[in-house]
Amino acid sequence: MTLPGPGYFDWNATAPLRPEAAAAMIAAMGAPGNASSVHRFGRSAKAALEAARQAVAGAVGAGADRVVFTGSATEANNWALAALLPGAPRLVSAVEHDSVLAARPDAQRVPVDRDGRLDLAALQRLLAAAGGPVLLACMLANNETGAIQPVAEAAALVHAAGGAVHCDAVQALGKLPVDFAALGVDTLSLSAHKIGGPAGIGALVLRPGLALDPFIRGGGQERRQRAGTENLLGAIGFGAAAAAVPAMLDAQPRLAGLRDGIEAAVRAEDPQAVVFAAGAPRLANTACLAAPGLPAQTALMALDLAGFAVSSGSACSSGKVTPSHVLAAMGVPPALSACALRFSLGPETSAEAAEALAAALCAQIARRRSHGAQGPRPQASIAAAPANGL
Ligand code: PLP
Repeated sequence: MTLPGPGYFDWNATAPLRPEAAAAMIAAMGAPGNASSVHRFGRSAKAALEAARQAVAGAVGAGADRVVFTGSATEANNWALAALLPGAPRLVSAVEHDSVLAARPDAQRVPVDRDGRLDLAALQRLLAAAGGPVLLACMLANNETGAIQPVAEAAALVHAAGGAVHCDAVQALGKLPVDFAALGVDTLSLSAHKIGGPAGIGALVLRPGLALDPFIRGGGQERRQRAGTENLLGAIGFGAAAAAVPAMLDAQPRLAGLRDGIEAAVRAEDPQAVVFAAGAPRLANTACLAAPGLPAQTALMALDLAGFAVSSGSACSSGKVTPSHVLAAMGVPPALSACALRFSLGPETSAEAAEALAAALCAQIARRRSHGAQGPRPQASIAAAPANGL
């Protein structure tokens, strides 16, 4: 395993483990930790679990009894899509994460505008056409473009029609203030590893009074809502990372400056370069852009060799590059989408690293230009981490 250095620009895929999360987990490691046991070890595990729950709840302004730990945000999304308002039709924004889209392939997709924001007028039309309560899934911030969705407005429309709303807030936590009550949603999913906690633990936050049919059955854990011995170490790491959310939020204005600097440098090198979702309110840490003629897979490999870890906006597997469904929903043509790169910054990203990344990318663009339109063909055989799956 290689520890991330200053060239790590893939924080939306996963954030490096925060030192306080690592320290808390190491301190708890080795203690017998079944929170259901009645003896003192069990009681101590239970106390640690509940403290972690309190910290996670506090990060989104919810009551601790409203937080159910899950094995991932993927599980939390699947659970909400299955169990919230069962029997009602499902509407999902067209730019949801795969863990929402695949959870209910029958769901109708609500279009987004060219900046990737949910089309509220289209939502209203779909609600009217449904003629009854629906479940809407709408993320708070997009993992690829960083576009921030009008979740509270959408929730008001859906609730007025008697429906319910699930919000995937995985990418928003630590990057935007997340106020569960102000969003007005029924359920909200979170993931520890996106905020510097460990992978393999997430949470579903339920509005007061709401109980869902369990998705995972076979035990009374998590107030009978999610069976299975709790991932105590994971929860402890999640709690420690969640407690650092205010510090992460403090870093965002600085990151916005670095992100803007990268985008400006690229646009100065290539005025044809496109910054996706530029017209939308966006996460401060995320830049998704394309320099036409520079295939993302080529740039990604060259940047990797130069010490920079970034993501592409397209999924590449088995030698076949498939365009991002997020960019497709925004009307981006496949040829441009194939050039989309995602840079995601974190609280530890330095100005020097951001400048060096911009310089490396600009050098790529210049080299490509000097090769002319007939330059080397994009290599599509790299097993690139797909931005739209992370
Ligand atoms: N939702 C969004 C928006 C994501 O970016 C991710 C990350 O992959 C997930 C859900 C899934 O999170 P997890 O890795 O905890 O399953």
